[in-house]
Amino acid sequence: MRRVGFIAVLCVVSIGLAANAAEEHSGTLAGYSAQGSRIERQWEEKFQAIPEPDNMRAYMKHLSAYPHHVGSPYDKANAEWILSKFRQFGLTAHIETFYVLFPTPKERKVELVAPTHFAAALREPAVPADPTSGQQSLQIPTYNAYSIDGDVTAPLVYVNFGLPSDYDKLASMGISVKGAIVIARYGHSWRGIKPKVAAEHGAVGCLIYSDPQQDGYTRGDVYPRGAFRPLEGVQRGSVMDMVQYSGDPLTPGIGATKNAKRLPLKDVTVFTKIPTLPLSYGDAKPLLEALRGPVAPSGWRGGLGITYHLGPGPARVHLVVKSNWDLKPIHDVIAKIPGSVYPNEWIIRGNHHDAWVNGADDPLSGQSSLIEEARALGELLKQGWRPKRTIIYCAWDGEEPGLLGSTEWAEEHAKELEEHAAAYINTDSNSRGYLSMEGSHTLQKFVNGVARDVQDPEKDISVWQRDWDLQIRRAKTPADRQALREKADLKIGALGSGSDYSVFLDHLGIASLMLSYGGESRDDGIYHSIYDDFYWYTHFDDTHFVYERALAQTVGTAVMRLADADILPLDYEEFAGTVGSYLDQLKNLLKSEQAGARELDTEIKEGVFVATSDPEKSYVPSKPEAVPPDLDFTPLDNSVAALQRSAAHYQRALKAAESNGGVALAHSSLARVNHEIIETERKLITPEGLPGRPWYRHELYAPGLYTGYGVKTLPSVREAIEQRQWTEARQQIAIVAKVLEDEARAIDSAAADLENATR
Ligand SMILES: [Zn+2]
Repeated sequence: MRRVGFIAVLCVVSIGLAANAAEEHSGTLAGYSAQGSRIERQWEEKFQAIPEPDNMRAYMKHLSAYPHHVGSPYDKANAEWILSKFRQFGLTAHIETFYVLFPTPKERKVELVAPTHFAAALREPAVPADPTSGQQSLQIPTYNAYSIDGDVTAPLVYVNFGLPSDYDKLASMGISVKGAIVIARYGHSWRGIKPKVAAEHGAVGCLIYSDPQQDGYTRGDVYPRGAFRPLEGVQRGSVMDMVQYSGDPLTPGIGATKNAKRLPLKDVTVFTKIPTLPLSYGDAKPLLEALRGPVAPSGWRGGLGITYHLGPGPARVHLVVKSNWDLKPIHDVIAKIPGSVYPNEWIIRGNHHDAWVNGADDPLSGQSSLIEEARALGELLKQGWRPKRTIIYCAWDGEEPGLLGSTEWAEEHAKELEEHAAAYINTDSNSRGYLSMEGSHTLQKFVNGVARDVQDPEKDISVWQRDWDLQIRRAKTPADRQALREKADLKIGALGSGSDYSVFLDHLGIASLMLSYGGESRDDGIYHSIYDDFYWYTHFDDTHFVYERALAQTVGTAVMRLADADILPLDYEEFAGTVGSYLDQLKNLLKSEQAGARELDTEIKEGVFVATSDPEKSYVPSKPEAVPPDLDFTPLDNSVAALQRSAAHYQRALKAAESNGGVALAHSSLARVNHEIIETERKLITPEGLPGRPWYRHELYAPGLYTGYGVKTLPSVREAIEQRQWTEARQQIAIVAKVLEDEARAIDSAAADLENATR
């Protein structure tokens, strides 16, 4: 489902000595003996030669031949086809089925009832050149899954992106959305946030439309001439309040098996509070044109070629949303390669197979790479390769409605995963361009190493080098450029939510990575529409499937390198440094909130707002805000310092273990150290979870309550500051400090065991 700003996640991190790609390539791999490292590189080289673009094209063509949303015949048929592929490759595989609540449209209506009449089509027409766009009887209609049912008629208000700050702006102009239907444009937040914030401000209905400024003709030619969203293209998507919990709404925290204990519908808290529907810009334009009231602020005006007004009214809209609230089966396909040395340590790799419609880009561009990786690993097994750890390949169902397949599987197997899972690697949509690396910062060094060992298909350099070059071009200051030239690794982005890694990272505390290529293709214009299909992908995206091959090479290499290492290659120094930088951000956040409140008070006293308000426009005087109190960050300062000492301790122990040309320790001692390394990740979750949302248990990363997919780091403290909950901020500082101290102790313990084994 995923669509977030690309590349923003890359920037520089300060660590150790600079090492260029060539040195790195021939060096001993972290966690390996010199001999083991040479053997590993030989297998990886063989692996990277196997993936074939034509195979991935064929997988995508087959799997995108018909719409395959949750509950559809082709969703099940695709799962069975993927199962047969895994078996054909020589892997042991099975399907696990869960039963989830998945509402589908029964009635949808959007009409302008005053001052004129207009009925929205709510329909995406076939494109003659595009053979699958005409499969209308199989396509799920345009809707937002998990909107509650409703039938409302009310004046319309335009709310820009529908963010909390947009409502502040409206309030300052004297505009309320109480009792109104709001119309928000897609973008700048996860879509589920828009109806949530609208309802909190008293709106009775929510429309979300795709403005051409975001992904239509303002950006480039529209489909089928170009890649961008055509007039009637609609972004479907879930509006479940996934920042509370993801997965089946009826079975939070447990697997949605046939006989699972389910919540009654009335007790579910993750549905929207108001009826919500998505619109094309073709359907949105007459509604927006009928608005009067103040002209929208300059940053709020989109690409429709009209004067954007805010309302309320005189446009009145009649909105009807009714769904069939049925349980549907979902089919996860699970393949296993047993580990030869550490069978109880699992490396898990996943991508979803369900789509909103035909879904060539989302998710089959990622799924096709996953299938080709599985084929290549099957080939290596035939040649005698035996991974040390168990590898589990997962093709998830039900990702689009709410990460259903991955969440239910992981909840059902939570006990085993807590014990055995060493890492999870996720992919989703994939395009041409640069490698995006996001995930747990304990894996930052590791994934930089993998990226150095994969060739970019369009340039004669590594994909890591290309990322670095892009960062140089984007660096804003000479100091940024100098930092890039001096540091060894590129910083990876932190993960919020938005794809299948969420349950592994956020709920179970398993080190996770999210990888993709992108930035050169323009794939957001068909996102979640009937036009995301094979014709579109093979005309406008990775048309030669070489970035599909690069993704398979990248992820497969990462899987092998994690599975074959003597010592799991987690690194704590960059991790500790990153946590320290998050703490600095919190301090700066508080300072800027304090300064902002003081400045506001001063300007009110100076009469600045009164003097600059336009007497011909309505104006609501600003009220002074309480200046946030100082918070004592000392417990966090101390725990971050402890974390940094432990990280250095572990690094010394690892260096000592590697000093004789690499790690060469007895298996029994290594097993113990590996177990402790896995434990260090589990220490980052708390049994109570985050305030008000116990399903989210990771104390470093969580999706933001008001950003949706967007990550909040040190979330419990950060969100308490943002929401001015000072008592809670103080409590959470103590809790997070304790988590980091425990983490430091766990790292020390792994370091001590490594030292004992080395002596
Ligand atoms: Zn997806």
